[in-house]
Amino acid sequence: MFGGRILAMSNRDDFTQKTKDELAKRVAWLCSNPNCRRATIGAKTGSEGAIITGIAAHITAAAPGGPRYDSALRPDQRKNTTNGIWLCSNC
Ligand SMILES: [Zn+2]
Repeated sequence: MFGGRILAMSNRDDFTQKTKDELAKRVAWLCSNPNCRRATIGAKTGSEGAIITGIAAHITAAAPGGPRYDSALRPDQRKNTTNGIWLCSNC
């Protein structure tokens, strides 16, 4: 869904780590796609710690030219949890 494209950081209204954590916790670390609902956190194999496979996706894009970009939003609205959805890496 991201196409691996890297844009200049100054151009993007990225979520803070706190917002990403909040988005994940609000859906119990499950993919928000109703047809998927895959767990996005689990134990790392062969080592300590956890691995997170989920992604905090923007509903309207973080940067101009991105999917569904809405120029009417202020940067703080664009990085708010209301503009985010927690998905697994497949979705
Ligand atoms: Zn999914």
